[in-house]
Amino acid sequence: MIHRHSEVSSVRSVLKKLPRPHALVPTMGALHEGHLELLRAAREHVGPEGTVIISIFVNPIQFDRPEDLTSYPQPLEQDLALCEAEGVDVAFVPEAASLYASDHSILVTDSLLSKHLCGATRPGHFDGVLTIVLKLFHILHPDLAIFGKKDFQQLALIHRMVRDLNVSVKIIGHPTVREEDGLALSSRNRRLTPAHRADAPRIRRALSAARDLAPSGEQNPQVYLDAARHHLLLEAPADFKIDYLEFVDSLSLQPISKFVSPATLATACLYGDVRLIDHIEILP
Ligand code: AMP
Repeated sequence: MIHRHSEVSSVRSVLKKLPRPHALVPTMGALHEGHLELLRAAREHVGPEGTVIISIFVNPIQFDRPEDLTSYPQPLEQDLALCEAEGVDVAFVPEAASLYASDHSILVTDSLLSKHLCGATRPGHFDGVLTIVLKLFHILHPDLAIFGKKDFQQLALIHRMVRDLNVSVKIIGHPTVREEDGLALSSRNRRLTPAHRADAPRIRRALSAARDLAPSGEQNPQVYLDAARHHLLLEAPADFKIDYLEFVDSLSLQPISKFVSPATLATACLYGDVRLIDHIEILP
């Protein structure tokens, strides 16, 4: 039986009684197979006796576009049924008002890894993400927490926060779960029109086409960017737009001037107002 809690005090008191290790999977709900894979990985890590916790919270302070927040799907009862079927022990489903005082004024801010990619096009987004993740760690005290590699900049920032602020939780990255046609699973996919959904695998195809240049020994990052851009835009729908396309060092997340060590080609694309992200790591 899943325990569902919306209050900090009640979730804390139930967690005190549940056997360790505790694994946390933070989500914003609208669960899909990608989230479920994270929950299964959590169970693998803690074993049958350990405790799997999910948080479901559409964190208002990480949304830079108000329309993105209001249109975010929230099928809570369906989500809880999926969690129950996966054997999740505790669901923490707080209200925004109970997590953020009306005059809250402290944020966790990064000054390096968030300067490019999503951080550059979504001002304040990662401050919001880091702040809520740290709050969840403080409230729930998990031994480990699992995040998707799909959001690779987010994962890098969480690793950095845990290191730089001495947070004692083990962070585990889980591989991106994809549809058969290559589209990365995302809660936003359900907002795509059928035509956009059919077209969306172009994002993965474009990144793979750029990666296919690596065996030639090409070291000029622009060649990879040009190839990806070409495939992204080739006969694309009229309302398709590239939000960003960058080739960054996989560790520092800074743009590279020469491709000589592992690097990540990452993009965010818009189908109308639906923003999809994907990336591919390329080895020289
Ligand atoms: P979200 O609900 O979008 O905030 O995602 C919650 C967690 O699920 C994050 O750690 C995401 O990186 C992860 N996640 C979302 N989509 C996928 C996917 N397709 N594959 C793996 N992890 C994912």
